Amino acid sequence: MTQTFDAIIIGAGVIGTSIAFHLSKRGMKPVILERKQVAFGATGSSSGLVRMHYDLEAESRLAWESFQYFRNWGERVGGECGFRRTGFLHIEPAEHEDKLRANVAMHQRIGIPSSIISGDDVRKLSPSFKTDDIAFAAYEPESGYADATLTANSFLDVAKATGAVYTQDCELLGAHVASGKVTGVKTSRGDFFAPIVINAAGSWAGIVSNFFGVTIPLDTWTHDVLHIRRPAHIQDHLTVIDSSLGMYFRPDSGDLTLVALEDDSRIGEAPDADRHYVAKDFVERAIDRICLRVPDMEQGSLHSSHVGRDGLTPDQRAIIGSAGPEGYFLVTGFSGTGFKLSPAIGLCVSELILDGKAATVDISGFDPLRFERGELLKGDHSYGFIWRDSSA
Ligand SMILES: Cc1cc2nc3c(=O)[nH]c(=O)nc-3n(C[C@H](O)[C@H](O)[C@H](O)COP(=O)(O)OP(=O)(O)OC[C@H]3O[C@@H](n4cnc5c(N)ncnc54)[C@H](O)[C@@H]3O)c2cc1C
Repeated sequence: MTQTFDAIIIGAGVIGTSIAFHLSKRGMKPVILERKQVAFGATGSSSGLVRMHYDLEAESRLAWESFQYFRNWGERVGGECGFRRTGFLHIEPAEHEDKLRANVAMHQRIGIPSSIISGDDVRKLSPSFKTDDIAFAAYEPESGYADATLTANSFLDVAKATGAVYTQDCELLGAHVASGKVTGVKTSRGDFFAPIVINAAGSWAGIVSNFFGVTIPLDTWTHDVLHIRRPAHIQDHLTVIDSSLGMYFRPDSGDLTLVALEDDSRIGEAPDADRHYVAKDFVERAIDRICLRVPDMEQGSLHSSHVGRDGLTPDQRAIIGSAGPEGYFLVTGFSGTGFKLSPAIGLCVSELILDGKAATVDISGFDPLRFERGELLKGDHSYGFIWRDSSA
């Protein structure tokens, strides 16, 4: 049986499902083809931080637009995304003070609620934090975290109810291209036809892209995460990116705190490499690090650890746009920060496909061809790469 759709989306992570939601909302009938199941990739292990603090304006704009969904999910999408407002703190080392101030000014210009606060202010907000080394930090009172798996399922449920078709256990194995135009794909469940194919295959996107004759500079980023059960007297705390200590952490349900490191990335593993074990010394490193900022965590206990993997690009920014045969779009390479952007990415990609240009946020800078041109993305007041491997 020939299966013909308006668009084919490869991958049911938070990006593919958001695109499906937005395309079906505009009256299209897309099919989502997923090799395993929804949220099998990076989405299923995401730490779920929802904040607007970036040093690249386009990313802050995407995060801010996305935030309008997270804080009003029932109305904007339907179902649940698990958003919890905790307040968010971004700490940079002392030598980055000017950059932090300039970036917060940029966020304020966009309309993002953000301000610079002192170490004393931080202690008032989270009394368990050690703050002697903090002279300044950026504070976003509205931010927090959400549940990436719930988010993807919610996008998918509404997309299906509005005309999208979801096919899981369906692996893309090849492309149909005629006269320089995409016409469909070959899969483990037969052929599917559409004039548009969107590659949202996360860390597998390079393999998928090769079927369309488009090579992308995509590496993999493997990231370890742990949960600590807090001692009873630490009731709750802010969500924090603490770049002065190279880590981020946030509260979680059940009196848990999630902790991960910026300098513990394993870069270049195979997309399908084992995801069952954290790096050998990760647990010790992460516990040492969180105890530097929250000393009473010494009295906590290790709850669990897990591993996730995302696609990483040379500038650690996404790849969004068309390349190769007409009708082929790449929406991938989210480099460990794509969850919080996913609502706006789906909206902008639907505008790109249906209107020829994204109107909500200018995403032209994420052009897949920028690497060939040597135009890597960098913020005006850049902090440098977020992710470094453990040898850095
Ligand atoms: C541990 C971890 C923590 C993170 N924390 C945060 C955070 O706090 N905040 C934040 O904003 N971002 C965070 N991220 C990043 C964010 O989770 C990802 O950028 C986002 O989930 C990527 O979604 P995606 O849909 O592009 O990819 P994925 O979720 O990886 O989905 C890709 C899908 O494509 C499918 N697929 C692959 N190949 C094929 C094929 N041949 N045929 C069919 N289907 C295929 C896969 O099975 C998979 O389901 C984190 C990532 C990780 C790994």
